[in-house]
Amino acid sequence: MTLANGPQTLAIPGPSIIPDRVLRAMHRPSPNIYQGPLVDLTHSLIPDLKAVAQTAHNATIYIGNGHASWEASLANTHARGDLVLVPRTGSFADGWAEVARCMGIRVEMLDFGNRTAMDPAAIGQRLRDDKAHEIKSVLCVHVDTSSSLKADLKAIRAEMDAAGHPALLQADCMASLGCDEMRMDDWGVDVAFAGCQKGLMTPAGMAFVFYNDRAAAARDRSDLATFYWDWRPRTNPEVYFRYFQGTGPTHHLFGLREALDMIVHEEGVENVWARHATLAGALHAAFEAWEAPGGLELNVRNPAHRSNAVTSVRLPEHGTRLRTWVEKQVGLTLGIGLGMAPMGDPAWDGFFRVGHMGHVSGHSMMGTLGAIEAGLAALDLPYGQGGLAAAAKRIAGR
Ligand SMILES: *Cc1c(COP(=O)(O)O)cnc(C)c1O
Repeated sequence: MTLANGPQTLAIPGPSIIPDRVLRAMHRPSPNIYQGPLVDLTHSLIPDLKAVAQTAHNATIYIGNGHASWEASLANTHARGDLVLVPRTGSFADGWAEVARCMGIRVEMLDFGNRTAMDPAAIGQRLRDDKAHEIKSVLCVHVDTSSSLKADLKAIRAEMDAAGHPALLQADCMASLGCDEMRMDDWGVDVAFAGCQKGLMTPAGMAFVFYNDRAAAARDRSDLATFYWDWRPRTNPEVYFRYFQGTGPTHHLFGLREALDMIVHEEGVENVWARHATLAGALHAAFEAWEAPGGLELNVRNPAHRSNAVTSVRLPEHGTRLRTWVEKQVGLTLGIGLGMAPMGDPAWDGFFRVGHMGHVSGHSMMGTLGAIEAGLAALDLPYGQGGLAAAAKRIAGR
């Protein structure tokens, strides 16, 4: 018998759960794109997007996904032949680097592996060695969604400043924006970007690129920005269609308005971060209690380097089995392991990820954890006792 009927829960690290309110806001006839509510609504999104990224500088919206924001940010800040430094803590750094190479940008990787965070001092040292200032940007994935490692952007900026190096600090905040603490201006991040389908709880299809004046100056020497990707006409446009260089993503904009009402105006950005931190704490406490020889293990050992949005788990030989069981038997969809072992290699089956970004609550977290414990029991895997109790205590604030 399956117990999967009733509500299904998606706990993959993007797309995330879309609140019913967001879906309802999108359910409407096509609006006029030349005047009226859609135009006013679009203007109103910009300050709220900036509030989520904690920046007073510039925000642009592209019709696209995370890959589009990689291309948009690089196109506006680089010239063909530029060198960028990519500290790597997982496969999203590889993806970003590949996009850069395709655009004619030279890439130098600084690999920290899949289990340890970026070392800001090592980045600083590389910049000190770059006496000719050949490196034009440091491209940091804030939270690498494959490993669930979080980068300390503030410490990285401090090292860049101490090295007296003029490179831009660019941050991929796809997984972290609206989940993990992110203070673009305070932390000295020059370019940050994200899509709408993770922490911002809206169907995939929009990408947001934030940039400050230093990045705007880099645009002046870049030769990669084409008509569509150029961020200048999209920033504070005089004519509405310039926001999107064509027809806007009409219904997505209504959905995003609702999501930003929830995040910025109802709960508050800092409270959203605090909720994610508490729920992630509960999840990590459960997994720590469940750890057992031959059983599962959190991929990131140092709690300070764990994301509050996504968690990568190692479960040698049985990761895929557990994922399959919880989906078929209790209606919970977990994320596949990404980038930890080559696809087709038997080791690939030894990983899974939990997405806990956006529309997640104490109740949904306990449900997710309960389903996972049921899977561990059903498959007769070794696991320690007390996982759910440990999570419940964290949610109770004890
Ligand atoms: C999801 C994600 C991406 C890619 O986003 P797409 O919308 O799938 O293109 C890039 N970087 C990070 C860190 C992500 O989590």
